[in-house]
Amino acid sequence: MSQNTYVHPSWNKDTHPQAVIAWALAKYDSELIMTSGFNLNGVVLIDMAVNAGFRGKVLFVDTGYHFRETLDTRDALTEQFPELEFISLSANQADDAMYLEDTDKCCYLRKVIPLQEKLKELAPKALLSARSQDQSDTRKDLRFIELAEPQSKVNPLVYWNRERLEHYAKEHKLPINPLYWDGFLSIGCGPCTRAVRPGEHSRAGRWAGTGKTECGLWTSKGL
Ligand code: SF4
Repeated sequence: MSQNTYVHPSWNKDTHPQAVIAWALAKYDSELIMTSGFNLNGVVLIDMAVNAGFRGKVLFVDTGYHFRETLDTRDALTEQFPELEFISLSANQADDAMYLEDTDKCCYLRKVIPLQEKLKELAPKALLSARSQDQSDTRKDLRFIELAEPQSKVNPLVYWNRERLEHYAKEHKLPINPLYWDGFLSIGCGPCTRAVRPGEHSRAGRWAGTGKTECGLWTSKGL
């Protein structure tokens, strides 16, 4: 998979995310879709995307291990944004507690495979992603656009920090997962997420203590 950063001549770190979304809509039109775990970043991105004219699909991978609060947040967003098509992908895996033995394999079966299969079916040209640089050290070099096959990635929020996102979410009365306010700054599956401690990156509560930092959705071949 080849991957390059595209640098728009008039963009900089202060470019508003909505301008990046508008560019992506003009370039990819209906071949732009969004994936989301409905974290703070994702909820803000959904609102901005709708404001920019996005009316497409939002894919969520239901691993079977999400917090009830996450599913409730999805449902609240579905109600608040009827112009979008929210699609929950089921991992169709038995409750085998594989996360206790092999988190990479568990994520691969429960997250990566369902999304890869759906992307193969839909064949979008680009994915809207809510990742930002301040979420973790592994994301600090992210840029607005990653050109890649089969899908490029558009990261409008890459330069926004948590404080700015929180402010936006409150100002626009967006439904934020209540666990966020209890310190779950990045929320994945229940067995693999803990609250973040003071001074930690927002993703430090994901697979804490295992050395794992990404589920593979954004790093797998074909994504
Ligand atoms: S985050 Fe944990 S429970 Fe969820 S798919 Fe990955 S290893 Fe499995």
